[in-house]
Amino acid sequence: MKLHDTLTRSLAELKPRDGRVFRFYCCGPTVYGPAHIGNFRTFVLQDVFRRTLEMSGMETFHVRNLTDVDDKTIRDSQASGESLKAFTERWTERFHQDCARLNLLPPHREPSAVGHIPQQIALIETLMEKGHAYRADDGSVYYRVSSFDAYGRLSHLDKRELRLGTAVADDEYEKDSVADFALWKARKPEDGDNWWDSPWGPGRPGWHLECSAMCREYLGETFDLHSGGVDLIFPHHENEIAQSEAATGCRMADHWFHLTHLLVDGGKMSKSLNNFYTLDQIEAAGFSGAEVRYVLISAHYRQPLNFVARDKEGNETFPALAGARHALERLAKFEAALIQQGQVAEPTGYDELRGLSDGERGAFGPAFEALLNDLNTPDALGRLFSAIKEVKPESLSPEEAVIQYRGFRAVIEALGLELPEVGGEIDIPADVRDLADRRFAAKQEKDWATADALRDELGELGWVVKDGKDGYELEPK
Ligand code: AMP
Ligand code: ZN
Repeated sequence: MKLHDTLTRSLAELKPRDGRVFRFYCCGPTVYGPAHIGNFRTFVLQDVFRRTLEMSGMETFHVRNLTDVDDKTIRDSQASGESLKAFTERWTERFHQDCARLNLLPPHREPSAVGHIPQQIALIETLMEKGHAYRADDGSVYYRVSSFDAYGRLSHLDKRELRLGTAVADDEYEKDSVADFALWKARKPEDGDNWWDSPWGPGRPGWHLECSAMCREYLGETFDLHSGGVDLIFPHHENEIAQSEAATGCRMADHWFHLTHLLVDGGKMSKSLNNFYTLDQIEAAGFSGAEVRYVLISAHYRQPLNFVARDKEGNETFPALAGARHALERLAKFEAALIQQGQVAEPTGYDELRGLSDGERGAFGPAFEALLNDLNTPDALGRLFSAIKEVKPESLSPEEAVIQYRGFRAVIEALGLELPEVGGEIDIPADVRDLADRRFAAKQEKDWATADALRDELGELGWVVKDGKDGYELEPK
C-alpha cells in the first residue's frame, strides 16, 4: 500500500519494519463529551486504512489511546460533580457505542493516560537525566525545545519562529507561540483530587507526554506509523517526537499519516463553534451509523469534506445522508442478486476475504487498487459502482457469481460498509412519491409531455418508474 507521509510530504510504500506485523498508533479521543462526526471522520478513515492493510493480507497491531486526564476532562468532571474516573468512564462507554454504530474495528490495545502515570514519570526522568527537561520554581517540569535539533521537522517549522526560553503550561497553543511545553504540571487548587506524587512534587502529566509513554510501552522505540487529525501535527505530534526521540535516541515512527478536517455547511466543525453533530442527533433525524460512515469516506482523506446538513431552504434535512442511503441500497440489491445467482448459503466472513489475489477479486480488483493507492476512497467508490453496472449477476454461472461475490465483499469489508437488508419495503421519500403520482395522473389524462418531464425529474433524483397494468412501481436506479 502507498500512503502520503507527512514527514517527507511524499508517497511511501508501507511495509512492516519487522517484516510481519504492521504496528501503528492513533491518537484517540479526549473523553469529556460525545465525539462529533468530525472526530469520527478521522477514526473512520483510520479504520479503512487498517481494513485495507488487512484485506491486502497484512497483519496489523493497532493502538489507540484514551485521553482521560487533561485540562478539559478535569474542568468538566468538576462542573458535573463527578469524580474524574466516573466521568471519563461514562464518556468512554459512549465513545465505544458510537464506534460500534460506525462499524469501527476495536483497536488491539486501548491504553489510557491515567493507567500509565509511572511510565510517564519514568520518561520525564530520562529526559531530565539527558538534559532535555528542567524543573520550574513551582514544581512543573518543562521540555527544553532548544535541546532538540530536529524540533519542527514534521510541521516544517522554521527554527527562527521559535521563541526559545519561554514556557507554556497550556496543552494547546498555536504555531506562533512555540515554546517549552509542560511535561509535568504542578498541582493547582483547581485540579481538586486529580494529582499524583512525583520526584518533582505533586501534579499531573502534560497532555503530549501520554502518547510518547504509551507508544513506547506497546509499540517499542520505533514503530511503523503514527496518525491523527491534521490539527495534531503541531504542537502535539511535534512534541511527541521531541520527547520520544530525545529519550531513546531512535526515530519514533517510520511514517506519519494525517487526516483533513470535516467541515459543516462550509465551516469547520468544532465544539467551540457549537456547529457539531453527534451520532445521537443524526440517529434522531432517522439516519444510521452506516449512512454516516458512507458520507465520511466519500472524500479523499487529504481533502476537506463538507458535510451538507441543510437543504437550499436552510432546513436540516441532511441531503448527504439521504444520498448515502440510496447508494447503500443499490449495493445491497446487487449483493442479493449475486448471492442468489451464486447460491451462497452463508455470508463469507472478514477473515476468509483477507489476502485474496488480484484475480480472485473479479471485477472489483480496480476498486481495491484505489484503496492501495493512497487510500483513495472516492475513487474506490466510483470504481465499485462502475463494476456493479458492468457485472450482470443473472448472466453469470454460479461459479462466476461466487468469484464476483467474494471480490465485492472484499471491497465492502475494506470500506467497512454495512449494507441494509433487501426485500422489505423500499423507503420512498414523500416528494418522490408525489412526483410519481402526478406522473401517473398525467399519463391517465394522456398528457404525455408532462408525464415524460416528470419521469425525467424522477430520474434526476435517482428513481426509475416501471408501469404495470393497474399502477406503477418505483425503484432506485
Ligand atoms: P480530540 O477528542 O479532540 O482529542 O480529537 C480526536 C481526533 O479527532 C483527533 O485526531 C483530532 O485531530 C480529530 N478531529 C477533531 N476535529 C475534527 C474535524 N472537524 N474533522 C476531522 N477530525 C477531527
Ligand atoms: Zn497523541
